[in-house]
Amino acid sequence: MLDIQKVRTDFPILKREVNGYPLVYLDNAATSQTPQVVIDAIVDYYSNYNANIHRGVHTLSQEATDAYEQARQKIQLHFNAKHAHEIIFTSGTTHGINLVANGFSSLLKKGDEIIVSALEHHSNIVPWQMLCERTGAVLKVIPMNDNGELIMDVYKDLLSNKTKLVFVNHISNALGTINPIQKIIDLAHNKGAAVLIDGAQASPHIKVNLQQLNADFYVASAHKMCGPTGVGILYGKEAWLNKLPPYQGGGEMIAEVTFEKTTYADLPHKFEAGTPNICGGIAFGVAIDYMNNIGFNNIANYENELLKYATEKLLEIEGLKIYGPDVLGAKTSVISFNIEGIHPYDIGSIIDKLGIAVRTGHHCAQPIMDYFKIPGTVRASIAFYNTKEEIDKLVVAVKRAKEMLS
Ligand code: PMP
Repeated sequence: MLDIQKVRTDFPILKREVNGYPLVYLDNAATSQTPQVVIDAIVDYYSNYNANIHRGVHTLSQEATDAYEQARQKIQLHFNAKHAHEIIFTSGTTHGINLVANGFSSLLKKGDEIIVSALEHHSNIVPWQMLCERTGAVLKVIPMNDNGELIMDVYKDLLSNKTKLVFVNHISNALGTINPIQKIIDLAHNKGAAVLIDGAQASPHIKVNLQQLNADFYVASAHKMCGPTGVGILYGKEAWLNKLPPYQGGGEMIAEVTFEKTTYADLPHKFEAGTPNICGGIAFGVAIDYMNNIGFNNIANYENELLKYATEKLLEIEGLKIYGPDVLGAKTSVISFNIEGIHPYDIGSIIDKLGIAVRTGHHCAQPIMDYFKIPGTVRASIAFYNTKEEIDKLVVAVKRAKEMLS
């Protein structure tokens, strides 16, 4: 059981007011809030041992290197990767996807096929389109149904010996759909295709077990998991990471450099050119510790309770439609909705005046909005530090917005 009032005191930002009202932060799918322990870790780094890593013999450099490499190990253990060197620090999910897409440029040929899903974030569509342009590979799309769920029979038909890569998000940021990634991975592997899972939305809600999933690549962002912005991870199976060429050249990623030939460093450094976000990586490790102390089972149970409560309350509003799966258990804490005849942006603007933060728009998933023939939605996304009282405030504010705009 979560002591929610105690949990809330961990987050200084939750004490602030917005437009004269206590902040109700329901934009967690865009970025989560930061607990004091993570803020303290950032201050501690810059106050006490800020130095460049992997290079210096001096004490500060060694302390920073140790802390950074310990963070990598924490992340490895959390996601249950086999080796710490299979965890590559990136600037976030988008960077990780682009790193893999770039690496596959030299492995694909004209006529090879790549499968993505209709539920993807733009960061999991555009890099593959660019890859297809570079290589002549063909992009295929797993369609979705009216509930925002992938149509698996079509996926099975799309798979063939030409399929080289499959890219699917674990959980949709626009609708909250939990995709059947285990089936998606197993079916792709039967055809010899590699699978990348975009875990940006799953990692804050689910304890991901990479060895069990058997995904070839998995990407996530720290800022959705109570960590800082500008840091994330790409997990890749050792064999795949050894096969892919480096993404960027520079310091840190080399074994030896001469003007005739350069050899690359071993994993993970081969993919970590230049000075990384050292403090961010360390703080990401602290954020993961923080979430594990709360407990992912506790987080999931509590968030599901809030999701159920919010869904029921919002659906009492006449003309309000929620997009995505309606079965609890088939989605996580995203409620994407519209009220008939009202633009989502107008609802978002009015409720912001009442201190409530939600996201409005296409949520970087325009194909989903096109499917439903809507310009966008209002998206309220829940975290474990939200409360039923905050949901009540959301519902009152949305009702008020509806009255003003009808
Ligand atoms: N994929 C999904 C499913 C996301 O929700 C997001 C963030 N909205 C991203 C990718 C991109 O993450 P980032 O901006 O941290 O690179």
